[in-house]
Amino acid sequence: TECSRQDIPHSIISLLDGFKASKTLFTASKLKVFDVLNSSNSQTLEEVAGQINASVLGTERLLEAAVSLGLLERVKQNTEQASRFLVSDSPESLNGYILHCNDMVWPLFSHLENAVREGTSQHERAFGKKNEEVFQDAYYSKDEVKIRFMDAMHSIARVTGKDVATAFELSSYKTACDIGGCTGAMAYEFTKAHPGLSVIVFDLPQVIEMRRHFQPKETDDRVSFVAGDFFKDDLPKADLYILARILHDWSDEKLHVLLSKLSKMCTPGCGLLVSEIFLDEERKRPSRALLQALSMTEGKQRSPTEYRDLLEKHGFTPNLYVIIFLGTRVKDHFISQNALPVF
Ligand code: SAM
Repeated sequence: TECSRQDIPHSIISLLDGFKASKTLFTASKLKVFDVLNSSNSQTLEEVAGQINASVLGTERLLEAAVSLGLLERVKQNTEQASRFLVSDSPESLNGYILHCNDMVWPLFSHLENAVREGTSQHERAFGKKNEEVFQDAYYSKDEVKIRFMDAMHSIARVTGKDVATAFELSSYKTACDIGGCTGAMAYEFTKAHPGLSVIVFDLPQVIEMRRHFQPKETDDRVSFVAGDFFKDDLPKADLYILARILHDWSDEKLHVLLSKLSKMCTPGCGLLVSEIFLDEERKRPSRALLQALSMTEGKQRSPTEYRDLLEKHGFTPNLYVIIFLGTRVKDHFISQNALPVF
């Protein structure tokens, strides 16, 4: 059917244009088009152009392209979805993640040929800086880049966090530790969903020191923050450990270090909750995970069997999985483990 209409390869043609569509979304977000249109929809084109600091002709082209992609209802009106997910101060805004894609991922992908030839991340070519340690060197060496990365994690966690927090029956757990919990966005979703649960967010000191930028009003005293390095430092004691979008960042060797620390902390009845995109066993889908892998440094996307093998080596027994992708349950993408004692 893909080629039925005069043998036109529609899927190839839409891939040819895919980068233009992504960059249209990125540029409209970066220039704050969705914010400007949200504040008033009775502006002239010239006024919109003035507010986004752009030429009238360029603005008109951008707005028309955004309409054609379904990002705008019409030239000067956001769709409902844009008002909900693209306006920067909306509670479910993906703006932070979009800017991360534009400023960090796009430059890396412009060097994809080299990444494939060399089998390495192109951080040095794209940003002029060697990237020995992905988080410490690539993301956290400059405050501006660090805030942008944290903003990206924060925005995705706010949109997906509730599904992760409610995927399993967790009422037997009283204390959780969100390992690499970043801004705490996910932790707050867990305490909202589970009234009897307290959550400790554990992340690098550079991240923990910025938490008030994202959580200015810490109204929930069941969320607390501890700074440390999960490869080197002691982890806080908890009955449920959460690893949300952590495992894919690291090689099997590094994960053995982290998982053996976790298994030593876990007593019978403790849980480990893993949230990742799972590849299907044939490593064909979802393509989102395989595309992400193209710009990875030392991480790797894995199938449920690969995750299970890693976890079982450390005494964790996988027992449940559910798939969640940006708020939609798609297929198996999430496992919970009951930790067995490891002697
Ligand atoms: N769990 C969050 C989520 O799902 O939104 C953030 C995931 S982000 C991909 C990875 C997180 O791991 C970052 O917040 C990063 O700072 C943290 N991290 C990376 N290396 C770490 C280390 N050695 N010790 C503690 N945290 C680390």
